[in-house]
Amino acid sequence: MKETEKSPAKHYYRKRVELLRLIEKIKLWPSRTGVLHGIRSIDRHGETARISTHCNRVFTVTNSRNSRAARWLRNKMFFRVCPACGIPEWKLEKYNSTRFNRHFGSQLAAQRNPNENPGKLDIGNVR
Ligand SMILES: [Zn+2]
Repeated sequence: MKETEKSPAKHYYRKRVELLRLIEKIKLWPSRTGVLHGIRSIDRHGETARISTHCNRVFTVTNSRNSRAARWLRNKMFFRVCPACGIPEWKLEKYNSTRFNRHFGSQLAAQRNPNENPGKLDIGNVR
C-alpha cells in the first residue's frame, strides 16, 4: 500500500481525528475500491498499525489525519459493504449516525471550536 497522500500544507486538517484512533473506535475500514470492511484486529506500533479484517485481509496503515482512508471514513464514502466481513447492522447504523465534530470530537481529536463551520473549511480542496 502506498502512503504518499500526506498534504502537510493543508492546515485546516490539523484538528481532525487521527486515523488510528478513529479505526480503533469504529472498527471499520473503507478500501480503495469503496468496499467497507469490518476490522478484526489492530496491532499498533507507534505511528503504524497492522490491520486484519474479518475477511482475512491483512495490511499496514500509517497514522494520518488526512489520508484517503481517514477522509473516506469521516465522509462515510463507500459503495458497498463487504459480504465476507459480516458487519452487523447495528454497527453500520451506529457508524451512519456518527457525527465526527460532536460525538467523537471530544474523545479522539483535539478540541474543535463549536462555532466553526466544518463545511466551510472543505470548500475548494476536498471535492
Ligand atoms: Zn471484508
